[in-house]
Amino acid sequence: MASSPDQHPDSVDVVVIGSGPGGASTAIKLAQAGRSVLVLERRKLPRFHIGESLLPPTMRMFELMGVLDRIKEQGYVPKYGAEFSGPTGKFGRIPFDGQGPGRYPSTVQVERAHFDNVLAEFAQECGATLVQEATVHEILWEGERAVGVCYEHEGKSYTVRSTYVVDAGGRASKIAQTKGLRRYIDQLRMIAVFQHYNNLDESKNPGWEGDIQIGRHETGWVWAIPIWKDTISVGSVMRKESFKADQAEELFAKHVASLPRIADRLQGTTPLSEDVHVETDYCYYSDTIAGPGWFLVGDAAAFFDPIFSAGVLLATTSGVRAAETIDTLLGAPEREVDLQHRYENFYKTGYDTYSRVIHAYYDYDFNLRKWLVTVGMDSPEARWNDDKYVVRLLSGDFWSDSPVNQALRAESKWNTFAPFERDLECPYYGDLNAAEAAEEAAAAAVS
Ligand SMILES: Cc1cc2nc3c(=O)[nH]c(=O)nc-3n(C[C@H](O)[C@H](O)[C@H](O)COP(=O)(O)OP(=O)(O)OC[C@H]3O[C@@H](n4cnc5c(N)ncnc54)[C@H](O)[C@@H]3O)c2cc1C
Repeated sequence: MASSPDQHPDSVDVVVIGSGPGGASTAIKLAQAGRSVLVLERRKLPRFHIGESLLPPTMRMFELMGVLDRIKEQGYVPKYGAEFSGPTGKFGRIPFDGQGPGRYPSTVQVERAHFDNVLAEFAQECGATLVQEATVHEILWEGERAVGVCYEHEGKSYTVRSTYVVDAGGRASKIAQTKGLRRYIDQLRMIAVFQHYNNLDESKNPGWEGDIQIGRHETGWVWAIPIWKDTISVGSVMRKESFKADQAEELFAKHVASLPRIADRLQGTTPLSEDVHVETDYCYYSDTIAGPGWFLVGDAAAFFDPIFSAGVLLATTSGVRAAETIDTLLGAPEREVDLQHRYENFYKTGYDTYSRVIHAYYDYDFNLRKWLVTVGMDSPEARWNDDKYVVRLLSGDFWSDSPVNQALRAESKWNTFAPFERDLECPYYGDLNAAEAAEEAAAAAVS
């Protein structure tokens, strides 16, 4: 299809690099606020992406973006909980309805090519311009300030100027690369090997239909995520030193076969591709998340590990917050330093909590319960999956000041970002948390 001149404006309020969940959420909120937004996506949509299991508050984010009904229409697999098991077949489950009233008790699991396309189309309906197969190859700088980008589309080069550049380019982030912002985390150098299967028959699932299953093996863990009624995504994450490229398929098969509850669910399924996919070097962070004229959103600034399925939630939450911040700044540019500082604290609070629960899992033999025992949140009398704060954490409660979050934050060995001020107002359930705290304070005053 030939491009129309409107597809390539000379200037806009905001250029967004990348149309994944982070970029699409940013574009949706900015377009809804009446801002002119150009989204540049280097791939043709729909495009493959890994990251298929969502957390419940993502539904709240969809609600805030006005896209919840559209998501519900797609026939995605409902997810009510997460099952954790090991090689003996022993298992435990986090039921999302254990978060307490008022919070989304379920979410969905998605084929990302389909889901990302739904969000990108919605961004366009809201008024954003999306150009596919448009690769940003340079950020335009005036001194320290980002003032636009240069990109390539259908063999031609274009330049667009903008008041803000949002880099939501994921692992390939241009700004993180150009500015040398990215740091890797030695303890989290993992490799993921994965495959999709069809002919899934959930009557073979010994657990709960639709749940994600996570199984612990000797050097990591396996995921099993139904992404359509008859299709399941299975992946094995392993320590980098235990991986051998020429044995990827054998290692993957061995890890899956070692987990009886996952192996049972896969009976009768058939791989959808001949080869397994391999992903590596996806655990990193940056201490700088925004600067003059620019913001990083989602994976562009940090990603730690997929074990607790938070990538899409964190990308959409940071996208929405970046959009709200930019919308304010477009009317009050003198507040840039202050509001970018707040955005960075907000971003780091969520990603930092997520990184800590990952460290707890990895440092305690791929078994979060072992750490919970050490902080008194799992015992024969008080089981981990009855504790509403633990259930909330594993459902995506990364911004609150709950007891389990406090315990995670007290572990200084898990500090990643340089010291920062935490922003403890939950972006999805701030009101509920405040009401709950007021009730508890009133009850304490009475007793
Ligand atoms: C093995 C693995 C398993 C995972 N499992 C889960 C899971 O179960 N649940 C979950 O929530 N998350 C999971 N994640 C994380 C999840 O994939 C990411 O957190 C999420 O996709 C981040 O969204 P994003 O929009 O920030 O980046 P992305 O989704 O990566 O989107 C970035 C987009 O930018 C485009 N782009 C990049 N550079 C340019 C450029 N120069 N010009 C134009 N476009 C560009 C890319 O083509 C891409 O479409 C997993 C990650 C890994 C590695």
